[in-house]
Amino acid sequence: MLVVFLGPPGAGKGTQAARLAAKYGIPQVSTGDMLRETVAAGNGLGNKMKVIMNSGGLVDDDTMRRVVQERLEKPDTVGGAILDGFPRTTVQAAALDELLGRTAHGGVDLVLYLDVPEDVLVERLSRRRACPECGANYHMTFNPPAQGSRCDRCCTELAQRDDDREEIVRDRLEVYREKTQPLVDRYQAQGRLVRIDGDAGIDDVFERSDAALAEVVSA
Ligand code: AMP
Repeated sequence: MLVVFLGPPGAGKGTQAARLAAKYGIPQVSTGDMLRETVAAGNGLGNKMKVIMNSGGLVDDDTMRRVVQERLEKPDTVGGAILDGFPRTTVQAAALDELLGRTAHGGVDLVLYLDVPEDVLVERLSRRRACPECGANYHMTFNPPAQGSRCDRCCTELAQRDDDREEIVRDRLEVYREKTQPLVDRYQAQGRLVRIDGDAGIDDVFERSDAALAEVVSA
């Protein structure tokens, strides 16, 4: 079962992908998380990526194809994966098809497109905080930590991602409109896309996403 989460930054792809992955027992493959791990390693490659990510731009297609290929070659993805943050360009989508065509997966089974209005996205991202230690995500209004501004899991002080600052958020949305939005039409034309209204609570969006996935699983 190969599922792709598509949608603008702040739509909730990571949150929903993690929940579906846990329910269906297949890994969540988040390219953003993988890149942040490379940045945290603090080597030359990480520093190069940090500059791109903090400016709201995209890492080049060839690097991303290699990152995802390596990840999908790991044995834990044999039963499938939930991709969150990839593909983000038409070149990446073509590379994914090519990559999957050479594996037992064959192709993308389902694309869940989380549709959220832009003003909601800006509000969500500017109130988002993440744990620098364990990566847990919070929203200071809708999903706040239990104790002040510390992580519920590991008690570390939460921080705002550099690329969640408002001026960078605007740039990321622009990049999304130009480079990623065309993928909605591409997957729709292929009959693989289900649009989910993502402007709702986390549990409601999960139910909608789960229902769409359950339909594909039972088909
Ligand atoms: P995310 O956590 O998915 O919002 O990703 C954070 C940042 O990582 C993005 O703004 C990009 O700079 C970079 N990134 C993540 N996935 C990709 C991708 N598929 N292609 C290019 N850049 C990516």
